[in-house]
Amino acid sequence: MKNICLRFLFLPALLLCQFAGAQVSLGDMALTTVTIIDANHRTPLAMQTVLIEGGIIKDVFTDGSKPIPASYAVLPLKGKFLLPGLIDTHVHLATDPSGVDNRAHTLSILRQMLYSGITTVRDMAGDARTLAGLSRDALTNNMISPDIYYSALMAGPAFFSDFRTGSSTQGAISGKMPYMLAVTDSTNLLLAVAEAKGTGATGIKLYANLSPGLVGKIVSEANRQGIMVWGHAWLQQSRPSDLVKAGVNSISHAPLIVHEKFDKLPDSWKKQHTNRFWDDSIPNLNALFVLMKQHGTILDATLLTYKKWAQTDTAMQYDYEIGKHLTIAAYKAGVTICAGTDDDQEAFVQDEIRLLVSDAGFKPIDAIIAATLNGAAALNIANTHGTIAPGKTADILVLDKNPLVSMDNLTSVYLVMKKGLIFKK
Ligand SMILES: [Zn+2]
Repeated sequence: MKNICLRFLFLPALLLCQFAGAQVSLGDMALTTVTIIDANHRTPLAMQTVLIEGGIIKDVFTDGSKPIPASYAVLPLKGKFLLPGLIDTHVHLATDPSGVDNRAHTLSILRQMLYSGITTVRDMAGDARTLAGLSRDALTNNMISPDIYYSALMAGPAFFSDFRTGSSTQGAISGKMPYMLAVTDSTNLLLAVAEAKGTGATGIKLYANLSPGLVGKIVSEANRQGIMVWGHAWLQQSRPSDLVKAGVNSISHAPLIVHEKFDKLPDSWKKQHTNRFWDDSIPNLNALFVLMKQHGTILDATLLTYKKWAQTDTAMQYDYEIGKHLTIAAYKAGVTICAGTDDDQEAFVQDEIRLLVSDAGFKPIDAIIAATLNGAAALNIANTHGTIAPGKTADILVLDKNPLVSMDNLTSVYLVMKKGLIFKK
């Protein structure tokens, strides 16, 4: 929508105020006098104009260096900071859609997420029947929500005694659903991958009890059919390096990569941790990190959830400590790390970003890149998301205060934009 009158008549603050608590379209617009912070602007770049046309960033230039088309609405943002919309690469929105993840609760959380600046989430396994509907409604703006990408889970048969697989397949049989599937060496992987893709999932999540050989076959078939593969960093019989060599796109949970160095791998996916991690020196995983860089494997560290568990579970303190130290080591080694919470809707990715800075030694800009460009890479949408650049989708977070000065400033949200549509509380 192009609205010439709008450009000359409206007072931006007044207009945005009028639409407070709602979504508003200004049509094609120019955001002016703003400071950009993203992977391409590690040092904030002030006095910039961002042209947005049809929900896509058309151009980015220094104020006044190019003309603004007459039909564009102009939104001055002097003193404000413009970032790509945040991406949480590890949420669970539908593990139990008729219980704790009931629709009213999930819709409320998704709404809060978008207003906080999160424009994209990756759901790492749940009831894909529910996720398909949520994803569709987010895409079409039928509800106020980040865009939702989700996964279809595969694991060895032993995993499907886990109660979460039952709650994610209510009315059907856990382990026999296309998005919650038990696989063995005799599984028809051509059909299994095709059915996983048919659920609308963006990636197959490998969870537990899979051999390196089977992981390799799944990834190979997934590559052939054009669907990503994400995995827990350790699948009992398979070490992290087995997943990396097979070509898995991202591996989740920093504490799990310690299994790379185990002489004998435990045969249960269940946590039976002792104080081994606490007492031993931190293992050197540089060879794994080199391998991850060679293959472009992304580490979905999910520190926040371990830190929260550690507050009430002594054994989890070992997990958190090892995960923290291995995240620090991976960061120093140059591994691409994304920001995921895995916190079952209780905390948002801003908390993971803060933790990457406070506990894992990230530079503030690198923590923001983890939750923007690296998150986009984990979803294979980095060509359209994750930075403020021409051709990218206008998923944007505008802050009143500079987040590089203090991560607490991530809460100073002025407005959020998804595909050019403005959301403002
Ligand atoms: Zn998870």
